[in-house]
Amino acid sequence: MPYVIEPPARVGVPVLGSKQQFPVHRIYCVGRNFEEHAKEMGALGREAPFFFMKPADAVLLPGPDGVALMPYPSLTHNLHHEVELVVAIGTGGSHIAAADAHKHIYGYAVGLDMTRRDLQNEMKKQGRPWCIGKGFDHSAPLGTITPASLLPNMEQADIALDVNGQLRQSSSLFKLIWNIAETIAQLSAAWTLQPGDLIFTGTPEGVGAVLPGDVLEGRISGLQTLRVRIGQTPLSRP
Ligand code: MN
Repeated sequence: MPYVIEPPARVGVPVLGSKQQFPVHRIYCVGRNFEEHAKEMGALGREAPFFFMKPADAVLLPGPDGVALMPYPSLTHNLHHEVELVVAIGTGGSHIAAADAHKHIYGYAVGLDMTRRDLQNEMKKQGRPWCIGKGFDHSAPLGTITPASLLPNMEQADIALDVNGQLRQSSSLFKLIWNIAETIAQLSAAWTLQPGDLIFTGTPEGVGAVLPGDVLEGRISGLQTLRVRIGQTPLSRP
């Protein structure tokens, strides 16, 4: 049956070595999954993983010049970078055992969980949902997906972020509190994972603010580098 309005297009992410795209279904994110980042956010000790989501069309892809242009978002004066390993789910499932988790992974990419930190902090204080701080337009810059079949074990990979050539974040995925397989196990107990789901697995310490004109470079060993330039705000600043 036809639709009464044009249905929105599905977001497709480029895949290394392929002319076909990866279709995005949902975007799940893990909160506070590196100990040193949990500390800088004011949390203490190991806790069960917790999750939030971004809309699928929050994905922001690089243009033909290889750089993603992210407009400085409205309503914030404190836009933060969080560089993260993104897991692309190829095969869905629920209650996936950690030992089986890798069978469900299509590939990996570098992502940025861009955050309106001032709004997130205000929502935290008031016990309200984080959506306005985390799930806004263009809040999920994402690099090319590399199929897992082309990669070694990602559990030991280095992860880093530069802003204007200065190192801001640097760690190893070895330091994830909940590793990739454990994250998939926990997430799939709460939601049935579907092909096309993306999981932002959490950022290491060193998060901080960026400004219009800044150039961000997210790197994870073995994956394609993600470059983002922060543009001007499309709306007048409050
Ligand atoms: Mn994050």
